Amino acid sequence: MRPPFGTMLKRGFLRHCPNCGGGHLFVHWLRMRERCPTCGIKFEREEGFFLGAFLINFGIGEGLIALLLFGYIILLSANKDVSIPAFIAAGIGMSIAATLFFYPFSKTIWSALDLAMKPLEDKELTDAMEHRLKHGDG
Ligand SMILES: [Zn+2]
Repeated sequence: MRPPFGTMLKRGFLRHCPNCGGGHLFVHWLRMRERCPTCGIKFEREEGFFLGAFLINFGIGEGLIALLLFGYIILLSANKDVSIPAFIAAGIGMSIAATLFFYPFSKTIWSALDLAMKPLEDKELTDAMEHRLKHGDG
């Protein structure tokens, strides 16, 4: 009963559980719960699992820096007096803000990609069900 890839990815982009679509996966913006409160799956499926999420977040940050650099080049071609320190400051500020903003999305998107590539194993499904039963939501 695995959801289709598009559904899982859409759920990931909405910071929802890619497996069941349930929400409230975060204690606060930067802190993800260990398990989905709805279906009980464990998000960190193995040691170093979220390295992929960090890679997504890094890629978004680098992409934005590249766009800023293109903007700088375009402005520079029209006006030679464009302020370099202002662009460096904007780049630093944007990197920090984007990393913080996209952090939770990168985690749920990565969870969706990982689930699409590597479906839940029987032992993970059993573990999730036991967790749901133990917490009175079975
Ligand atoms: Zn779930």
